[in-house]
This record gives sequence, structure tokens and C-alpha cells, in this order.
Amino acid sequence: MNKLNTLLENIAQIPKVELGHFPTPLEECPSLTEVLGGPRIFIKREDCSGLAFGGNKVRQLTFTIGEAVHQGADTIVHGATSQSNHCRQAAAACAKLGLKCYLRLSKDHKSVWQGNLLLDNLMGADIDIVDIPFGPELEDYKFNLAEKLKTEGLKPYVIASPRSTALAAIAFTWCIAEIYKQQEQLGIDADWIYTSSVGGTQAGLVLGTKILDMKMKPYACAPVHWEGKIDRIRDAGNTAASILNSDTQILDSDIVNTDDYIGKAYGYLTPECIAALRLVADTEGIILDPVYTAKAMACLIDHIRQGKFTRDDIVVFLHTGGTPALFAYNDELINT
Ligand SMILES: *Cc1c(COP(=O)(O)O)cnc(C)c1O
Repeated sequence: MNKLNTLLENIAQIPKVELGHFPTPLEECPSLTEVLGGPRIFIKREDCSGLAFGGNKVRQLTFTIGEAVHQGADTIVHGATSQSNHCRQAAAACAKLGLKCYLRLSKDHKSVWQGNLLLDNLMGADIDIVDIPFGPELEDYKFNLAEKLKTEGLKPYVIASPRSTALAAIAFTWCIAEIYKQQEQLGIDADWIYTSSVGGTQAGLVLGTKILDMKMKPYACAPVHWEGKIDRIRDAGNTAASILNSDTQILDSDIVNTDDYIGKAYGYLTPECIAALRLVADTEGIILDPVYTAKAMACLIDHIRQGKFTRDDIVVFLHTGGTPALFAYNDELINT
């Protein structure tokens, strides 16, 4: 049996719930390509994954919430930054599946009832904005809350690393399998896949392209400084490989992840990311988000200007979503 079918069969063995619209489109962007002077750019539209404005977490939650439901959970506990796309998509999945959803979100400069936080509220999540920074302390807080909910008779499942990162990696081997088939249909064989990630998405791209022996090399742009990110990505990929019964291993040298486009910090815009967001909107009518995808696009544009590609090269840009956060950034986008 060929590698693609083996991968798809192994993915099919893993518990999941149906959440999104898959496969997501792989769309050519001729105007963007022309304005930038090549390479040929295609966008993989994970922002069109359906559920509550979509994004890469819909595919990931297919397996995380799949595992929760499989274990008999009736409640999801999650938490991150206040404009978290992951939390918004989890709230949407819970609404759709009839699960209770508790979100514990770190108070930060975007804790306003706009964007994702507004959507969390509309979808009926139990929201508490806590004065705890995003990181290990917030993770402890989520687990403590789950213990308390157990005493109240609920069956909570906490979405947290490293498990959620490994399941996310599985999700993105599935995305790679989609791209593999879409490339066959389009008659292309891309050289690169660019994305914004510091975790499961990149782990899945690296593992999936390696399992399927593809030419396409993953290049990720981090949205945030993360100590030990290479270990985290490698471990997620290799846990995913073992869940998938694959003997493919990913190595540190397979993982290319740059911090060069973060700017001041997570969630703060850079002039280059604003320009990238405007350019893609203006040439293709495709909306990026200010926190993740516009910074990754700024990275791709910079690499094009540095002459990294030829006109015959093909680059897939994985649009991981996040567009609702745009509405919490209206001032910065208009006034800079
Ligand atoms: C979460 C997120 C990412 C990064 O995903 P990883 O978990 O780091 O792989 C990228 N883009 C958007 C829009 C996101 O919400």
C-alpha cells in the first residue's frame, strides 16, 4: 500500500469529532505573485475550515475534543491569552457538540469585548479574565479548576500541552495529506510551505512531509518567543509519529523556525506585518490576521526580496486563520 493511504488509515484510527469543512481549499494567488515578482504562491486556506470563522485549531480540536469525548468528558477547560483563537474555536466546538466550556484567559492589552473575546461570549462559554500571565501558572490554574469541577459532578477535560500539541501535529499530517492530493490535482510540486507556528502545526508539517517523502520544506515563523521551542516541536512530532504507528522520526535539523518577525512581543504589530496584511487584502481579497499570519507573510515577502526563490519556485503559504482578532486591532491598523 502506498504511503499516503497508510498515513490516512492510521489517522482514521484516532478518535475524532466532526467539526470543520475539510479539505480546505488550496488556492493560487496570481496577483500577489505578480506584485512580488514570483515565486508562484498558493494559499492553503485553513482560515476557511468552517467553524466560527475557522482557523488551524479546528483541525487540531478534531482530535483533542475527539479524545475528550472518547474519554466521556462533558466539559472542556481551556485558557490562553484573551484574544486566543484556540479558545474561541474550542468554545465553538463545545457549542456545536453540547459540551460545557470554561475559558480562563490572561488579562492583557487586548482584553476587550471585541474579536475572539466577543465571540467566546456569544457562544456561551464561561469566561473569567484572570490576572495570571499566560504560561505554567495559568496551566496550573486550569488543572485546579478541573479538580473543582469534578467535585461538582462534572467530567472535565483540560486542553493543555504537551498532549494537545501532539494531537495538533497529527492534525497537520492530515493537512499535509490533503495538500499532497491537491498538488496532484493541480499538477504542482511545491518547494516550500510557509506558516506561523511555534508548536503542533509545524510539527505536523515536518512529520507529514517526511512521512510522504515530499519535496516541500516547512518554514515557520514564530509569533512569540518560546524558550525550548525546538524541543517542544520535535517532541510533539515524535509523539504524533508513535500514535500514528509511523517509524519516521523528526530531527532538530528538520525544524526551521525563526523569531525574526515577532517585533516587540506577541500580539504587538510591526510595520511589516501591517504592510503584508494590506498587500494580501488588496491583491487577493484574502484577509490575514495581525498576530500570526501577517507576520509569517512579512517573513515570506522579506525572503522574496532577499532573492531566496526563483520565479519557477512554488511556495504554499498555510493561512492558519485568526482573522477575528483583527477587530481588536482597528486603531493600530487605521492609524499607523
Ligand atoms: C494558534 C495559531 C497559530 C500557531 O499554531 P501552533 O499551535 O503554534 O502550531 C498560528 N496561527 C494562528 C492564527 C493561530 O491561531
